[in-house]
Parts: sequence; C-alpha cells; structure tokens
Amino acid sequence: MRHAGDWRVLVTGGAGFLGSHLCDRLVARGEDVLCVDNFYTGSKRNVAHLLGNPRFELLRHDVTFPLYVEVDRIFNFACPASPIHYQHDPVQTTKTSVHGAINMLGLAKRLRARILQASTSEVYGDPEIHPQPENYWGRVNPIGPRSCYDEGKRCAETLFFDYYRQHALEIKVVRIFNTYGPRMHPNDGRVVSNFIVQALKGEDIAIYGDGSQTRSFCYVDDLIDAVVLAMDSPADMIGPVNIGNPDEFTMLELAEKIVRLTGSKSRWVHQPLPQDDPRRRQPDISLARSALGWQPRVSLDDGLGETIAYFRHLLRS
Ligand code: NAD
Ligand code: UDP
Ligand code: UDP
Repeated sequence: MRHAGDWRVLVTGGAGFLGSHLCDRLVARGEDVLCVDNFYTGSKRNVAHLLGNPRFELLRHDVTFPLYVEVDRIFNFACPASPIHYQHDPVQTTKTSVHGAINMLGLAKRLRARILQASTSEVYGDPEIHPQPENYWGRVNPIGPRSCYDEGKRCAETLFFDYYRQHALEIKVVRIFNTYGPRMHPNDGRVVSNFIVQALKGEDIAIYGDGSQTRSFCYVDDLIDAVVLAMDSPADMIGPVNIGNPDEFTMLELAEKIVRLTGSKSRWVHQPLPQDDPRRRQPDISLARSALGWQPRVSLDDGLGETIAYFRHLLRS
C-alpha cells in the first residue's frame, strides 16, 4: 500500500518550465518521479540537477505515442505553451494535447491512477466575462492561429471529463493562468521573459499593440503549491479549477515595472498586435480559495525580482 510521499509519479513535459519545478517539488517531498519529455521546448538543463538523484528518472518520449510504464499518479504537462512555439507546428500542438491526453488517460485507466491535466486560461479565449469563473464557457476562435492550442486544450478537458464519466477515472483539471519565473526559456517568446531579456540587454522593449491589454501573472512557486494541493485534494474535487494570481496589469505597466526593477535604459516600441490576442485576462480564484485553501503569496515585484536575477545570471554565463 502506497501513500503520499511514496507515490511513483509521472510528469509529462517534466523538462519544461513548469514541469521541472513540479519535479523538484515532488522529489523534495520524497516521491519517485518519472519525467517524460520529447525536449520540443523543454531542455535537459532544466532537470540536470536532478539526474543523480535516485528518486528521479528521465525518459525521452513523445506523448502522442502510447506509453507503457507503471505509476500511481500522472501530471500531464506536456505541451508547448508559448504562442510562437505552439504556432510553429500547430498540427503537432493539437496532436500533443489530444493524442497525448488519450494516451495518458488510457495509461491512467489501465493503472487506475489519478491523473491531473494542466489546462489553461486559453480555454476562455478572448473572454467577454471578467474576471473569468470556471463556469464561463469561453469565446474561442476555432479556426485561428491560436486555435491549435486553445481547442486542443478544450478537447483534452472534454476527454478528461469523458474518461471520468465513462470509466470512473480519478481526474483533476487545473486551468493555469499566465505563470512566470526562473527557467522560462530566454527565447520563449512570452511577455515576461521577452521584456526582461530586452531590458537586461538594453534593447528596445517590444510592446504588441498599444499595451493596454491585460494579463494577471502568477509566480511559479505559488502555482506549484496549487497544482500539488489540487492533486492531493479529495476525489470529488475534480475541477476545473482556476489557478492564477488575480492582480491584473496592462502590458505597459509590466514594461514600466521591468524597466524600473532592472534599472535598464531600454525604451519601448510598439509592434503589431497578434491576431486573436485576448484583450483582458484575470482569474476568479474563489474556488481555489475555498476548495484548496490556496491563494498566491508572491507579489509581481517580488516574483519579477527573482526572475530578473535568474536571467541576469543566465545572460552572463
Ligand atoms: P514549456 O514549453 O516550458 O513546457 C512544456 C514541456 O512539454 C516541454 O518540456 C516540452 O518539451 C514538452 N513537450 C511538448 N510536446 C511534447 C510531446 N508531444 N511529448 C512529450 N513532451 C512534450 O511550457 P510550460 O510553461 O512549462 O507549460 C507546461 C504546461 O502548462 C503546458 O501544458 C501548458 O499548456 C500549461 N500552461 C502553462 C501556462 C504558463 O503560463 N506557463 C499557462 C497555462 C497552461
Ligand atoms: N495507452 C497507453 N498506455 C497504457 C494504456 C493505453 O499509452 O498503458 C494508450 C493506447 O494508445 C490507447 C489509449 O491509451 O489507444 C487509450 O486507451 P483506452 O484503454 O482508453 O482505449 P483503447 O484505444 O485501448 O480502446
Ligand atoms: N506581448 C508583448 N510583447 C512580447 C510578447 C507578448 O506585448 O514580446 C503581449 C502579447 O501580445 C499579449 C501579452 O503580452 O497581449 C501576453 O503574451 P504571452 O505570449 O506572454 O501570453 P498569452 O498571450 O498566451 O497570455
């Protein structure tokens, strides 16, 4: 009989930004972690410090193909998350979300393992309800450049709920809002890493559109707390549950903060707004507060401070 601290845990996408922090957390609390990744956007560097640890294993594998391993719990994080990466090979992005979910759900079904899906605020698309609660069905373009990601993730949620209803699988669905922190890829293309790298290099900061669009940024440590709480929550707490920091900022405010915190002389320039870029995004986290007893603790200034220190070190080396 196994119990918390003694699980064999599979983390797909475990060599990515969030996945590697999750592997750290699980190894630290004594779990036996199998990290599966095809290194599409992730890197061995993110988990290099874990490689000698007997509680950690790394397997190169693409989740669009079946996977036969023996585990007790599955965190399904495999999927490129940055718009430039998920739009680079959109067919593969949809396959990763949909075929990947089918394979991991099939694996969970054979093993009767609990499985958690890393879903996204993108299931709400460009929302007309603000902030977004879990019962909002979203406003998503099914045929645009973001659709491979948004619709792929929506279909994955559908599959999770169908395996729950049809096969009585123990599922958890968390909807992650914009998260940032150390180990974001410097060329990842997401706004926080782009702005910090540009500020540290003294380059122009490229604001897409007029910069009045908003996002709500969650620091990675807070996010991982919530993911672990969600996995450990009672069986009837299946979600979907929003996880994010409700503090909302415009991209102009973010650029100003990053220039101030880096002490950079960078100026900002405006570039065209990408198609279907959501205007506003802010999580309603009432459910996470009540059901998981969770709320974010790290302010944007503090989290940016940690992230800037990480990129400063990375760019120097
Ligand atoms: P990331 O790109 O750093 O990590 C994704 C990982 O999945 C990478 O290591 C990549 O190599 C791996 N991967 C991609 N396709 C794969 C495949 N077919 N088979 C095996 N591995 C594959 O991105 P991230 O920010 O760490 O995101 C992790 C998960 O969290 C994703 O599912 C993403 O959709 C979700 N998410 C992230 C955010 C965020 O703000 N970071 C927000 C919402 C949802
Ligand atoms: N699968 C897997 N590992 C397993 C069991 C299943 O990768 O240990 C994959 C396999 O590709 C299968 C998919 O999960 O097609 C869905 O499995 P399920 O049992 O739901 O359906 P099946 O297609 O086997 O009828
Ligand atoms: N953005 C920007 N400059 C950049 C990268 C992104 O102004 O270098 C904007 C982008 O248009 C969007 C917001 O920042 O409005 C967040 O973009 P990101 O790609 O980080 O995440 P997502 O759009 O998926 O929330």
